[in-house]
This record gives sequence, C-alpha cells and structure tokens, in this order.
Amino acid sequence: EAVLSLEGVVRRYNPGTPGEVAVLRSADLSLAPGALVALVAPSGAGKSTLLHIAGLLDRPDAGTVRIAGQDMAGRAEAARTAVRRDTVGFVYQFHHLLPEFSALENVVLPQLAAGQPMAAARLRAGELLDRVGLSARAGHRPATLSGGEQQRVAFCRALANGPRLLLADEPTGNLDPATAEQVFSVMVALARETGLAALVATHNPDLAARMDRQLRLQDGRLVPA
Ligand code: ADP
Ligand code: ADP
Repeated sequence: EAVLSLEGVVRRYNPGTPGEVAVLRSADLSLAPGALVALVAPSGAGKSTLLHIAGLLDRPDAGTVRIAGQDMAGRAEAARTAVRRDTVGFVYQFHHLLPEFSALENVVLPQLAAGQPMAAARLRAGELLDRVGLSARAGHRPATLSGGEQQRVAFCRALANGPRLLLADEPTGNLDPATAEQVFSVMVALARETGLAALVATHNPDLAARMDRQLRLQDGRLVPA
C-alpha cells in the first residue's frame, strides 16, 4: 500500500480574480514504502504547494490525497493534525529549530508532544543525533552549530516520531555544495535504514540523481524528469 497517494490534485491561488494562478492542475503521485523520490522544478513551479498538500498543511481544490490508504479529504482538522504528527516528518530549507533549546531538546520536544515519556524521548533523540554524527553537539543551541549541523538536527527532529513519510523542501538549498552533499547523504542513509518514503524538492541535479526516481512539475502535473 502506498504511503502517500495523490490523484488529480488541483490547487489554484486567488481563484476567480485576475491574479488567479493554477499551480497544480492534475498532480498524480504514488509513493511506496521506502521509495525515495526527488522533485525537481524551477522556483515558482509549485513544489512547496505540492509538499504542503501532501503533508496535510493545505487542502487541494479538487483531487484525492491519501496517507497510508486513508482518504484525508473529508477529515476534520484535528484528525489531519494527528495523522500529520504520527506519519509525516518535514524538513525545510531553513531549519526552524527552536533557538532557546539545545539540539537534543529540539529532537525531544515533538516526542513529548506526541505523548512519549521524557526518558524514552531523550534516549531516542540521543540515538538519532548519534546516527548523524552529532553526539558531541547534543547540548548545543542551534545558533552555535554550523548550517550543515543545523540541518542534520532538523532531520533528526523530523524523524523523532518515526514517520513513514518524509517531506523535504530544498533541505540543502542553503548550504555550500560540499556540505549539501554530506547532509544529503546522511538523509538518504537514514531514510534507507528506516524504510521511510521521502519526497524531496531540490534544485540540485547531482543530489536528485541519488534518489530512486525523479519527477518534475510541468504545467501543474508530475512527470518523470
Ligand atoms: P515553489 O515551491 O516551486 O517555488 P510554490 O508552490 O511556492 O512554488 O509557488 C507556486 C506559485 O504559486 C508561485 O507563482 C507562487 O507565487 C504562487 N503562490 C504560492 N503560494 C501562494 C499563495 N498563498 N497565494 C498566492 N499565490 C501563491
Ligand atoms: P519556501 O520557499 O520556504 O517554501 P516560500 O517563500 O515559497 O517558502 O513560501 C512561504 C509561504 O508563503 C508558503 O506558505 C507559501 O504558500 C506562501 N506564498 C508563496 N508565494 C506566495 C505568494 N505569491 N502570495 C502569497 N503567499 C505566497
């Protein structure tokens, strides 16, 4: 069963006005467990819109979004939030880590929000940070970490609650090429280990080529790149 499936997804901004933009016209996608897919398209093509809809942060104007087989369309916001929390991990171009908290605490907090006890949450956070080579930085606040380290913490936070789907929007877009390469490798390795499905928007063709499949957005549809 697909972790994420989109069928005929349509999204327009400013409908019925002169500023109307039909960003998604009929987007179809099926992500099997463990599938790593790159989404390659120029700025403004609709990558963020697609990721927001896939991650239940936005609703399509038409079409179907299924997460682990469940049709999310008619679900109330509370149910969507619960599915998002339990099933989906997000990483953005900028880390959005909480500045007042340490790396470890940033990975602990989403687990507490999901009802995990503190001891288990700290243990898991420590294991994740260790896995991305940041054991020695666990007690550091984000501002004292390098850009690549911050993004590695952001990946750990995204994986904290054991999601089945990782959605990443230009996760290495703010890093120099060597660091981007390193962080991307860590992401792919983590995804492969955990059997996560991932949809990763990136401008970088070398990084996109590391994924199992590449898609691009053309005229509001997803097509093989
Ligand atoms: P990408 O992530 O590929 O850069 P986006 O999904 O952010 O693309 O945006 C796609 C298009 O939709 C752009 O032209 C953008 O300006 C427009 N857009 C995105 N969000 C909104 C919004 N909330 N209201 C109006 N237009 C939007
Ligand atoms: P990112 O590149 O990190 O995805 P963006 O700058 O594309 O962020 O978008 C940030 C937020 O602003 C998104 O929620 C997007 O939907 C919204 N947005 C993007 N373009 C427009 C636009 N032209 N008008 C209104 N909102 C927009």
